[in-house]
Amino acid sequence: MNNIDQVKWIPSWGRERIFNMIRDRGDWCISRQRTWGVPIPIFYCESCGEPVITDETIERVSKLFAEHGSDVWFAREAAELLPPGFKCPHCEAASFRKESDIMDVWFDSGSSHMAVLETRKELRWPSDMYLEGSDQHRGWFNSSLSTAVAVRGTAPYREVLTHGFVVDEQGRKMSKSLGNVVDPLKMTREMGADILRLWVSSADYRNDVSVSNNIIKQSAEAYRKIRNTCRFILGNLYDFNPETDAVAYEKLTELDKWALLKLDKLVRRVSKAFDQYEFHVVFHAIHNFCTLDLSNIYFDILKDKLYCSHSADPERKAAQTVLYELINALVVMLTPILAYTSEEIWSYLKNQGKAESVQLADWPQANDLYINNEIEARMEKILNLREVVTKALEEARSRKVIGHSLGASVSIFGSEEWLTLLQATPQLENIFIVSKVNLGPLEQAPADALALGEVSGIKVAVKAAEGEKCERCWIIDLSVGANTQHPTLCQRCQQVVEKIEV
Ligand SMILES: [Zn+2]
Ligand SMILES: [Zn+2]
Repeated sequence: MNNIDQVKWIPSWGRERIFNMIRDRGDWCISRQRTWGVPIPIFYCESCGEPVITDETIERVSKLFAEHGSDVWFAREAAELLPPGFKCPHCEAASFRKESDIMDVWFDSGSSHMAVLETRKELRWPSDMYLEGSDQHRGWFNSSLSTAVAVRGTAPYREVLTHGFVVDEQGRKMSKSLGNVVDPLKMTREMGADILRLWVSSADYRNDVSVSNNIIKQSAEAYRKIRNTCRFILGNLYDFNPETDAVAYEKLTELDKWALLKLDKLVRRVSKAFDQYEFHVVFHAIHNFCTLDLSNIYFDILKDKLYCSHSADPERKAAQTVLYELINALVVMLTPILAYTSEEIWSYLKNQGKAESVQLADWPQANDLYINNEIEARMEKILNLREVVTKALEEARSRKVIGHSLGASVSIFGSEEWLTLLQATPQLENIFIVSKVNLGPLEQAPADALALGEVSGIKVAVKAAEGEKCERCWIIDLSVGANTQHPTLCQRCQQVVEKIEV
């Protein structure tokens, strides 16, 4: 029983299960009366009837088994299995019969820790982990533990991981007659192995795991999201050289620092989840990061800077520095699951002296520098406000006040606390993806301004932005038309274009 507690049981209920089964097993008969199986190498003397099993007979039989397989027991007569001239140790007679019972199959697999681990140089005893379905507490886990404790005095494994079984969406077993079988080979041919692997990682294997064509479709959807996230990053790093262009952390914008902070949390979460074999946590953490933090927020806000700023703009280089760090961490964290896709991504990374394969790359390390509670709290507030603004923009769009969000001029009316925060936050237009942001005290909010219960002390009003639409960046600004040389561009774009022209 002590040996049970020295093993890590994953999930933890495995300990109870094995404990009860070992406790309730008073004895275990090792023989079974079957006509075929692994033989029990005992002889019986035809003359005195005594069982015969000596070092000499065991030695001889095990040599024959090693050479011909255990079926030799059934193929040959007793005399051919015993050493030549063997005599009964009890009565000296020379005629024997073979034991016809076979060994309980669980002793067969239950002794693999010795037959396999101890005979192969690259392996060692005890094993790091035994991994099998949740029915094996009665079977393999159990017989392995019994035989190892009997012979070696300790468990043959350090950890035991159990998983549930694959069932369909309604929780029914896979069966040909029900027609609910999902064939992994067929799936691999149709969608590629990575989508199958992503599905496996997404399922919480501690219970039975559902699979159906619908579930696989969702998995394919998630795969595309993750892949597109990586593609967006790679596409925006085409003119970034990490050796010469990287921007120091102190010079990043608060939004960039927020993205690194989120990445840092992801690295910690994913590393821990992998350590604990919680692959579904890895999947959800990475998928949420790609969808919510990156695609919906960071990339969304960054697009103007990436696409419209001058290529050498320090803020654009700062954003690329973050994108570069994101992809280098993401690709390695994805490798255990998306083996092919991550190798493909790796091949597009231009790191100097990078490992030949992503499989050889170092695991990303958490970085305490990126943890900043103040930035996190401030950005959290701004992003909550962004949701109110997005809601107000949607309403304005449905009232046909604006079309694209860049057509909007947004007025934010806030409490003093809010105004202090907003005045200290640069580039609010960028964050909300609108052409103009005005700030004002809460009392001055017009009657139709939008307020959301969840975000108190703030009201948002939307009207059409004044000015003309810049042909290059789509921002509506009074500066469009002011410059005779570039009458269709806003002031920012004029400056960028002039720099490019030089
Ligand atoms: Zn005898
Ligand atoms: Zn412009």
